[in-house]
Amino acid sequence: MDLGIRGRTAIVCASSKGLGLACAQQLAREGVDVVMLARGQEALEAAAQSIRTETGVKVTTIATDITTPEGRAKVLAICPDPDILITNAGGPKPGNFREWSREDWMAAVDANMITPIELIRATVDKMIERKFGRIVNITSASVKHPIEHLGLSNGARAGLTGFIGGLSRQTVKHNVTINNLLPGPFATDRLLQTTEKLARDSGKNLDDFMALRQAAVPAGRFGTPAEFGQACAFLCSAGAGFMTGQNLLLDGGIYPGTL
Ligand code: NAP
Repeated sequence: MDLGIRGRTAIVCASSKGLGLACAQQLAREGVDVVMLARGQEALEAAAQSIRTETGVKVTTIATDITTPEGRAKVLAICPDPDILITNAGGPKPGNFREWSREDWMAAVDANMITPIELIRATVDKMIERKFGRIVNITSASVKHPIEHLGLSNGARAGLTGFIGGLSRQTVKHNVTINNLLPGPFATDRLLQTTEKLARDSGKNLDDFMALRQAAVPAGRFGTPAEFGQACAFLCSAGAGFMTGQNLLLDGGIYPGTL
C-alpha cells in the first residue's frame, strides 16, 4: 500500500531508540526524508546511518534535548517547515507521588505537554498554508487508563490530550490532522527500566516479573516497536486526512472497554 507521502519531510523527536526510532524507520521506508533527534549523538548517528543504508532517503540528525527552548530552536532552525511532526520525549520517572517535588512535576509537564505544544505552535500554521500536515504525538496508554506508579505521566499527558482535542478540530479542514498514539507495553529500553524498578520494589526476580507482565497482556506478549512505527506511518498517510483528534491505543488488548 502506497501511503502517498513519498518526498515529504518529517521531524521525528526522541528517535535514536525505541518507539521514536521505529516511527523514523517506517516513515523513511515510505520515502519520507527524516530529521531525527536525541540527546546522545552516537546512538543517534548509528540509527540514522542504518536508515540511510536501508532506504536511501535524506536523514538529518540533531543531537539536542528537545525539552529545552534551545533544543527546539536548534531543530526548527534546521527544519522550519516539516510536513509531518512526530512529538516524543523520554517518559517521566515512575514512583510514589509523595516523593515528587514541584521540580519533578514541572519537568514532566515540560517534557510531555509543553514541548509538543511548542513544536506544534511553531509548525502548524505553515502546514495549514500548504494544505497538508500530519502531527502525531506519542503519549501513553496511561491517558486512557491511568497507571498507578506513573502519576507524572498520567497527569502531564492528560493535559496534552485535552489541548490536542480542541486544536485538532480547528486544523482538519486544512488537511492538517493531529492524533495521539497511546502505547501500552512495548519492548523498549523504557519498558525495561520501569519494569526493573517495579520488580526491585516488589522484591521479585526481573525475568519472573517480565513473564508475569507479558502474561497479563491479552496478546500474550509486549508490542514490537515495528508495530508502533507502522501505526504511526498510517496516521501520517495522505489517506488519513479524515481522522483527527483521536487517541489510538496500541496495547495488545489490555484496555477492556468496548469504546
Ligand atoms: P526509549 O526506548 O527509552 O527511547 C527514548 C528515546 O528518546 C531515545 O532515543 C532517547 O535518546 C530519546 N530522548 C529521551 N529524552 C529526550 C530528550 N529530552 N530530548 C531528545 N531525545 C530524548 O523509550 P520508548 O519506550 O521509545 O518511549 C518513548 C515514549 O513513549 C516515552 O515518553 C515513554 O514514556 C512512552 N511510553 C512508552 C511505553 C513503552 O512500553 N515503551 C509505554 C507507554 C508510554 P537520548 O537518551 O539519547 O536522548
